[in-house]
Amino acid sequence: METRRPDKANDRTSKETPSPSHFIHAIIEEDNKTGKFSGRVHTRFPPEPNGYLHIGHAKSICLNFGTAARYGGKCNLRFDDTNPVKEDIEYVESIQEDVRWLGFDWDDRMYYASDYFEQLYRWAEQLIKAGKAYVCDLSADEVRETRGTLTAPGKESPYRNRSVEENLDLFRRMRAGEFPDGARTLRAKIDMAHPNLNMRDPVMYRILHAEHHRTGNQWCIYSMYDWAHGQSDSIERITHSICTLEFENHQPLYDWYIQQLGIYAPQQIEFARLNLTYTVLSKRRLIQLVQEKQVSGWDDPRMPTICGFRRRGYTPESIRNFCERIGVSKYDGVIDMSWLEESLREDLNKRAPRVMAVLYPLKVVIDNYPEGQTEALEAVNNPEDPAAGTRKVPFARLLYIERDDFREEPPKDFFRLAPGREVRLRWAYFIKCVNVVKDPKTGEVVELHCTYDPATRGGNAPDGRKVKGTIHWVSASHSRPAEVRLYDHLFLKPDPDDVPEGKDYRANLNPNSLLVLKNCRVEPSLAAAAPGSRFQFERQGYFCVDSKDSKPGALVFNRSVALRDTWAKIEKAQQKPKK
Ligand code: ATP
Ligand code: MG
Repeated sequence: METRRPDKANDRTSKETPSPSHFIHAIIEEDNKTGKFSGRVHTRFPPEPNGYLHIGHAKSICLNFGTAARYGGKCNLRFDDTNPVKEDIEYVESIQEDVRWLGFDWDDRMYYASDYFEQLYRWAEQLIKAGKAYVCDLSADEVRETRGTLTAPGKESPYRNRSVEENLDLFRRMRAGEFPDGARTLRAKIDMAHPNLNMRDPVMYRILHAEHHRTGNQWCIYSMYDWAHGQSDSIERITHSICTLEFENHQPLYDWYIQQLGIYAPQQIEFARLNLTYTVLSKRRLIQLVQEKQVSGWDDPRMPTICGFRRRGYTPESIRNFCERIGVSKYDGVIDMSWLEESLREDLNKRAPRVMAVLYPLKVVIDNYPEGQTEALEAVNNPEDPAAGTRKVPFARLLYIERDDFREEPPKDFFRLAPGREVRLRWAYFIKCVNVVKDPKTGEVVELHCTYDPATRGGNAPDGRKVKGTIHWVSASHSRPAEVRLYDHLFLKPDPDDVPEGKDYRANLNPNSLLVLKNCRVEPSLAAAAPGSRFQFERQGYFCVDSKDSKPGALVFNRSVALRDTWAKIEKAQQKPKK
């Protein structure tokens, strides 16, 4: 699979062209023209409540809700809750929260496949009476073994030709709980030699004495996904059943059920699922990462879940823009994670207030600044948004700067602070390094002595002299301590499945995906920052206040995304001619 990267020519969101259209919209426009559904557009997002939603689901949510909105239609939220063993109310609740957070609303149209259990049961009896379904006593293994292969036909079940009366009686007794788990199934009677394996007498019901999160112990037979899904769409009078490509060869089966029952037929349209580099998008794997404590939970900011991105500091707008930009197609591909990161930068660049924070503090003494004196300097909150106004940042004799912004022996092109060199402190003064104090034992630089030029207040020299570097800083006594969590990709390789034989994707987990910095200092304006609020730490990146762990007096920030650096690097690499 090709990795797709942001392509300037494809970047439709930044230009004033109408919002992007794709083949699904084209189909709907055609249907509206021909009056196929009398101009109705009704979609649905149908998650199974067996895990938290991930960014792949966001693509489906944006597509289903977005398409309905675009054509003045409706979109339902439907829980496909046919498997009681894996489903849980916790997931039902998180899914609603995530869809709402993304900015979508199902009004009063929240449904459950379990609402249709009785109707589905009656339809099953209808098929039995029509001679189109039978109770089969083969075990799950035997059903699998007699299914045949792509090149060989399957074998008919010895129970295939039971009478209607016997089938009805057995099926009713299955429902009544007379048989143990796995003893019998109800199967559709289609064609064991059909080229499509899904059509070889698929199982419709299995016996499962399990409690369901909504229907309790009312049922001990549960419908297979394929028997519930198409009819649920039909009951809700969905016009366009949008689903991912792997369901393409299930469509003949859905159509068969609908035809046999003689009920309303929605139109199924398949699109390619989202794959992203450096992560996995499968609930089964995400559950594994959570259960094995490879991450702190579903909402670990490294997780590709919607709640993970939310806690990391992503905005709904950035995710929606990303989903729009990647488009919808019929071809599987992998989207580069940097595309998602760029979406977030674009959004936060417009609205995140700028603040100063020092992640690796190095103490600076301004020798000629009077002891005990402080002053408030004016700082612009967001150069991209004049309405954001200004704030005051306190300046004093003792400051912290970023350890990285000083080099005793500066390499070529290093324009920041060095012995004898002058730089600008953002929003403040020019300072010049006059002395370097080192730990006598380790030789580590522990303190810098500088002088400041009072005439450069605000950042410019009246005599016109220039400095090449501007660095950020905080006042030692006014700043607040903070913990900052830096995140990297959860996996080391763009394709986590790229592993040596005998290993699985977990072998590619990045041991350095989380770096916790405990001794950071942030400017005092952040002291009361609300959980979840987002900032640009000047020159470093976008950060948000952790919604779980941050407390007044014990601030915790997550790095949502670094500043453009990595992006610039990628762009540069892209522009290089291919060898
Ligand atoms: P997973 O593979 O992660 O377990 P799923 O398909 O089993 O996902 P569902 O709860 O059935 O999860 O998904 C709900 C809807 O979201 C379905 O219509 C499904 O096609 C869609 N969806 C799931 N994963 C993706 C993805 N990566 N990209 C786009 N749509 C997706
Ligand atoms: Mg599924």
